[in-house]
Amino acid sequence: MSANKTTKKTAPAVTAEPSSSSLHEPRYSPADIEPRWQKRWAEQPDLYGAEPASSNKPKYYVLEMLPYPSGQLHMGHVRNYAIGDALARYMWMTGHNVLHPMGWDAFGLPAENAALKNDTPPREWTTKNIAAMKRQMDRLGLSYDWRNEVTTCLPEYYRWNQWFFTRMFERGLAYRKKSKVNWCPECCTVLANEQVINGYCWRHEDTLVEQRDLEQWFLRITNYAQELLDDLSKLDGWPEKVRTMQRNWIGRSEGAEVTFQIQDGASLSDEELALRHGGTSVLSGRDDVKGSGKSVTVFTTRIDTIFGATSIQLAPEHPLVAEFAVSNPTLASEVAALVDQQKKARESGDLGAIEKHGAFTGHYAINPFNGDRLPIWVANYILLEYGTGAIMSVPAHDERDHEFAKKYGLDIRIVILPRRTTDSTNGEEEPMLPYTAEDSLLMNSGEFNTLANQEAQHKMTAFAEEKGFGKATVSYRLKDWGISRQRYWGTPIPMLYCEKDGIVPVPDNQLPVLLPENIEITMEGGSPLARIPGFVNASCPKCGGPARRETDTMDTFVDSSWYFYRYTSAKDDKAPFDSSAIEYWFPIDQYIGGVEHAILHLIYSRFWTKVMRDLGMIKNDEPVHRLFTQGMVIKNGAKMSKSKGNVVSPDDMIARYGADATRAYSLFAAPPDRDLDWQEDGVAGVSRFLGRVYRLVMKYADRVRPHVGSGGYSYTVPLSPLSLTLLRKLHQTIRKITVDFDGRWHFNTCIAAIMELVNTITASETSITADEVPDPVLAAILRDLVLILAPFAPYLTSELGEQIMGSGNLLRAGWPKYDEALAREDEIEVPVQINGKLRAVIRVSADANEEALRDAGLADEKIQAAVAGKTIVKVIIVPGKLVNIVVK
Ligand SMILES: [Zn+2]
Ligand SMILES: [Zn+2]
Repeated sequence: MSANKTTKKTAPAVTAEPSSSSLHEPRYSPADIEPRWQKRWAEQPDLYGAEPASSNKPKYYVLEMLPYPSGQLHMGHVRNYAIGDALARYMWMTGHNVLHPMGWDAFGLPAENAALKNDTPPREWTTKNIAAMKRQMDRLGLSYDWRNEVTTCLPEYYRWNQWFFTRMFERGLAYRKKSKVNWCPECCTVLANEQVINGYCWRHEDTLVEQRDLEQWFLRITNYAQELLDDLSKLDGWPEKVRTMQRNWIGRSEGAEVTFQIQDGASLSDEELALRHGGTSVLSGRDDVKGSGKSVTVFTTRIDTIFGATSIQLAPEHPLVAEFAVSNPTLASEVAALVDQQKKARESGDLGAIEKHGAFTGHYAINPFNGDRLPIWVANYILLEYGTGAIMSVPAHDERDHEFAKKYGLDIRIVILPRRTTDSTNGEEEPMLPYTAEDSLLMNSGEFNTLANQEAQHKMTAFAEEKGFGKATVSYRLKDWGISRQRYWGTPIPMLYCEKDGIVPVPDNQLPVLLPENIEITMEGGSPLARIPGFVNASCPKCGGPARRETDTMDTFVDSSWYFYRYTSAKDDKAPFDSSAIEYWFPIDQYIGGVEHAILHLIYSRFWTKVMRDLGMIKNDEPVHRLFTQGMVIKNGAKMSKSKGNVVSPDDMIARYGADATRAYSLFAAPPDRDLDWQEDGVAGVSRFLGRVYRLVMKYADRVRPHVGSGGYSYTVPLSPLSLTLLRKLHQTIRKITVDFDGRWHFNTCIAAIMELVNTITASETSITADEVPDPVLAAILRDLVLILAPFAPYLTSELGEQIMGSGNLLRAGWPKYDEALAREDEIEVPVQINGKLRAVIRVSADANEEALRDAGLADEKIQAAVAGKTIVKVIIVPGKLVNIVVK
C-alpha cells in the first residue's frame, strides 16, 4: 500500500494536493525509495564503520541501550533508536569518528517461558527473535555497524562473564553465603533487591515476592559504595533525577555503633554509677559487674540522644533473640508471630507502614554512657539487614520509638531541647514529642549537657571509641549484589565444589563452562541444570577427584554491566576487549535509554567499570559521560500495552507511511525527554511534509544540479531581497538545528523549523519558477535543506542527495555551516536604559548604526516620558546591544 493512498484514506480532510501541478510532479513513495536504499546500504558493510583510533577525527561513541530480543520492536524502541541515530548521523556529518553499535541482551527468563509454551529451545527462540528485530532495525534505516554486534547468550561473550567472575572470586569480590533472599514464585528464582518493586516482582507486577533462605553468590558492590556515591558528582552530563535516585539507593548514613553489655542481675550500685561520673565507663575493665558476658551492638545515627534511650529493640531474626527464646517458649511463640508479621509486611511492600508490635525478652542491657539498665525488646519493625539489626530506642526523639513506647508504656526521657528554650531562664517549655530536630542542645546528658547536637555527636562518638565500647560507622542502604539465579538461560557460574578442596573456580583454560543444549525446562523449583548429571558431575582441577558443578546461573544484569566495552573489539577471542580501544573510545560520549534503568543497570555497570579499572584493564572511572533518558511512548494517555489494546506496531506504521515518517514523527511529536502521545494523524502529517520536500527538490533538481559544488557556494552578491530572505531563513534554520544538536536536543522544534523553511520556500515558488532566484542560490538552499533533514529522514535525503549532488552518502557530505551575518534577524530588540536602569526595549534593524539606534531610543514613548524635564548629558551606544541615556 502506498503512502499517498493511505494518507488520503485515513485523513481525507487534510491538504488535498494542488491537482493542476501534481499531475506532472514526481510522487513521493517511501515504499519504493526505502527498500531500494536499504538494499544498497546492506551491500556496504563498512558504511557505518568506525575508523581506527589513529584517525585524527574527534571520536564520538553514541549508544542506545541494547534491547531484550522479545521478537518485536515496540514504539519505545523506535523512539530511543531514532534519537540515537539522528545524533550519530549528525556526528558523522560534523566530521567525527563515530562508534554506533547494537547488540542483544539475550539471556533471561522469557526464553524459558517461551520454551515451555511453544516447545522451542531457548536458543532457537532467541536466535529467531534477534533475526526478526534486526530486520526491523534495518528497515528503519538505523546506522548500526553490525560487524561489532554483541549477543550476550553466545559463549564467545558469556565466557568473559565467567572470566570476570573468577577474577572477582580471587579478590574476594565474589563470595557465597546463606542469606535471606527474595524469591519470585512465578520466575522460580531469586531476585536482587533492586528487582523487587514495592514487594512485587519487577517482571510480574501481580506476584508478591517471598523470603527464602538460600546459599547464594554475591558480588561485593558495597566495597564500592562510597566511590559510587562520590563519583556521582562527576556525572554532570547525567539527568539530576537519575543521580538523585542512585544517591538514595546507595543510602549513606553516618552514625555510630555502641555496644551494650547484657546484664540480667540488679541495677548498678551508686558506687558503680559514681565511677561513671568520675569519667570511667562502668564497663571498661570492670569484671565485677554482673554481666552475662554477652553484649548487643546497636547502630544509631543519633548518638547525641543516647542518654534518652529507655530500651533496646532487636530485629525478630537477631541471633540473640533465638538464644533468649530457647529457654522461653512464650517468647518463642511471640517472636514467631513478629517474624511472620515482618515477612508479610515485606512481601506486600508495606514495611514502612507496619503496625508495630513487640515482645519483652526478659533481659536487660546496660547503657555504657550512664549505666541505665534498659529492657531488651524484640520488635517487628526492626530489620536485621539495617545497621546491626539492633537499635537503642529513644522515644522522646524518634517517631517510631515514640509510637512503640506509647503503645507498650515504656519510659520517655527528654534529652534535647530547642536552643531558645534552654536559653530562657524562666523554666523550660517542653517541645512536642517526639522532638527530632538536630538544631538543638543536650540536657539530662551528664557531662555532655548544653552541647549542640553536631558537636555532641562527635564528642560522644569519640568518647565511646576511647572507652572501647563504640565507634563511628557509616552504613549504606546498598547491599551486596546477589547474582545467583536458579534458572537455565543464563551464564553458568564457573565454580566447582570438591569434598576435599571446597569451592574451586574453573580454571581459565577450561572456560567457557558451556550451557548444555537440549535440556528439559520446567518451572519447578531448583535450577534445570541441576537435573543434568553430565553437567553437574565434573572433576576437581586441584585434586582430580570428583566435584559437583555450580548449577545456578548469573543474573542477566551481569551481561549488561560491561557489554558496551565489548563493542570496541567484539571479535576478540583472547580477552574481553582490547584495552587500548577502550582508552580511545571511553567514556561513552552519549548513552540513551529509559529512565527505568536509573538504578539497576546504571549502578551495576558503574560498579563493573570500577572493578575492571582496579583489575588494571581500563583507565576510566566511569563508563558514561552523558546520559539521556527519553520519555515513554503512550497512546490515549496510557502506556502502550497488550492488555490495554493500545499498542501501535512499528511495522504497520512503516508499511503505511514509511520508516522516515515513522522515525521523524517520533522525534517531532514531543521533546525527547517527555512522554509522546502517539497520534496516527501526526505520522500522516509528517509523511505529507516529507512528500512536499521530495517534490520541491525533484522539481528543481535539473536547475540546481550543475551548481551544487562539493564545498562553498558559488552565488555572487549583491542578492535580490527575495534571495536574501530565503538564505536568511535557511541559515537561521541551520543555526537552530546545530545549536540544538549540541545542546538541548529539542528535535521536535528542529523538525518544525525545517517545515517552516519549506513553507517559506514554497510560498515563493512563483518567483522561483520565474527565475527570480538565481540557480546557484536555489542550489545552496535545496542542498542544505536535504543535509539538515538527513539525520531525521535518512532514506528520503539519500535519494534526494543522489538526485542533486550525485551521491546519496550524506554521512560524509559535511554538515552545512551557518553564516552568522545571514542568520541574523532582520530586526533585533535592543534595551534602552536611563542612567543604567532598563526603561524600554526598541525594535530596530539588525544592522542599525549608532545614529539610528540613538534616534530610535530617544523617539520611544516611554523614554520621552522618562526624560521629560531632564537634561540629557550623553547617550552611550553599544551597537546591536544597548542604548544608555545619561540624564541629570
Ligand atoms: Zn517474577
Ligand atoms: Zn579437589
